Amino acid sequence: MIKCTDCGKCCHYITVPLDTPEDNEDYDSFVWYLLHENIQIYIDAEDEDWYMEVMTPCKKLVGKMCSIYEHRPNICRDYDEEGCEVNGEGSPYKLLFKNAEDFIAYLRMKGITYAPNKAPQTPE
Ligand code: SF4
Ligand code: SF4
Repeated sequence: MIKCTDCGKCCHYITVPLDTPEDNEDYDSFVWYLLHENIQIYIDAEDEDWYMEVMTPCKKLVGKMCSIYEHRPNICRDYDEEGCEVNGEGSPYKLLFKNAEDFIAYLRMKGITYAPNKAPQTPE
């Protein structure tokens, strides 16, 4: 098993839960998220929920060590180091979308027609 003090990988991103996309407005938002740097979206292999992953290192990570270890947030304390993406079995992702093209291809594969919103702009 890899020790956390030799790793630090899970301190390099945050995850934000997303509602399952259901309509064109949702698809448009997901495409927009994925057009940004350091953003990916995935479906969790375990619970099949959708998450946004923001690839950004924690400011309290020094090398591979937590500089506020005694006072780290509960979300860090509760993270299962035996079931994490390094030590757990299998990929944490059921599906991973690294960019907008990946997500649009997924929609196409599901037979979903995505069209960017083209509603006319309301004059000021
Ligand atoms: S919990 Fe897993 S991913 Fe996070 S630092 Fe420890 S070994 Fe690395
Ligand atoms: S607070 Fe510490 S354990 Fe939590 S993400 Fe930051 S460096 Fe990692």
